[in-house]
Amino acid sequence: MTDNGPKLSPESLLARGGGHLDSPGGPYGSVSPAIFPSTTYVRAGDGSFPFDRIYSRAGNPGYEEVEALLANIEGGAAAMVYGSGMAAAMAVFQALKSGDRVALPRSMYWALRGGLIGWGARFNIGLDFYDNDAADPITELAQIVMAGKTRLVWIESPANPTWSVTDIAAAVDLAHKAGAMVGVDSTAATPVLMQPIALGADIVMHAATKYLNGHSDVIAGVLVTAKHDDFWAQLFHQRPLFGAVLGPFECWLLLRGMRTLPVRMARHSQSALTIAQHFDGDPRLVGVLYPGLQSHPHHSVAARQMNGGFGGMLSLRVKGGAEAALAVAARLRLITRATSFGGTESLVEHRASIEGADTPTPVDLLRLSVGLEDVADLIGDIDQALG
Ligand SMILES: *Cc1c(COP(=O)(O)O)cnc(C)c1O
Repeated sequence: MTDNGPKLSPESLLARGGGHLDSPGGPYGSVSPAIFPSTTYVRAGDGSFPFDRIYSRAGNPGYEEVEALLANIEGGAAAMVYGSGMAAAMAVFQALKSGDRVALPRSMYWALRGGLIGWGARFNIGLDFYDNDAADPITELAQIVMAGKTRLVWIESPANPTWSVTDIAAAVDLAHKAGAMVGVDSTAATPVLMQPIALGADIVMHAATKYLNGHSDVIAGVLVTAKHDDFWAQLFHQRPLFGAVLGPFECWLLLRGMRTLPVRMARHSQSALTIAQHFDGDPRLVGVLYPGLQSHPHHSVAARQMNGGFGGMLSLRVKGGAEAALAVAARLRLITRATSFGGTESLVEHRASIEGADTPTPVDLLRLSVGLEDVADLIGDIDQALG
């Protein structure tokens, strides 16, 4: 980045991969960054570290490029990359103290919810759930936030797999009055479509595995904090302690993927909206869940706090229950049956069968990750599969 250049938009920063001509260490004029596989760094004769680097678990030049870019586009003070989205999310929960309470949404990333239930009990972190699928999730949240006791309010918006939307500014107002921080899993929205820190959130988390990388070939996670505060210091201390760091090659791939994030999100959002509108009201369906639809109960909040689109994730509820939904998924020819989302290829998943017996997810729900294929091909595939 040129030091005194103009303040650039996120699109420009992303397109240039953060803007470095040459990574530290090589004045070769390379336009794309280097990969730094070294695990360790040289010491001088007096025992000091002339390059201020010791060991790659504590820091790698490759992390810093991605982190600077992410902190910038999220409007935060600092960012940290992790070896997975789960490692990033758990870093926040592991920074709490025994006896703290956390408010969690009913609909959220299933593996995190399930994992926290057992983990919270072992480490004496109290979990209080609010119904984020209700007409007004803020009213639900207000009933469980306890002043002086709730330390963290966790939000996922849009929430997997109902794509319910929570009013982040209203949740922040409520949480901060009670002395709680707000963490937002913004994986489905990405920093292109929503900036939680501008809405008052303290921490933003991404499964960078999904849209940030965008090519279904890297597992990675990210945290961005609004401030360089004590909580950030605790997170920074913890990362090398727990050791869930990102590999240098994965880091490089993530930065490469992020260059096209704005154009991908525009296309994902446009195609998802076209598909949602096409199948909304279809007699073969119970309903279409997508926050971009006027009929979505949280559409007005989504329209207010998201910009440039509603994302590429939607769910179809199929008439006839679990069996009918599974049969539709089985008949898809173009759209791949697989977990995860956010890649260039469209994926479908019957969530209830992967989430198990105590899931709140409707059994007739098929989750769709709308990829970058021709939208007419995608509509044709879904149409023939519905039979
Ligand atoms: C995938 C996902 C995670 C977990 O990320 P991993 O990289 O798979 O560990 C967390 N939250 C959401 C919303 C996700 O979709």
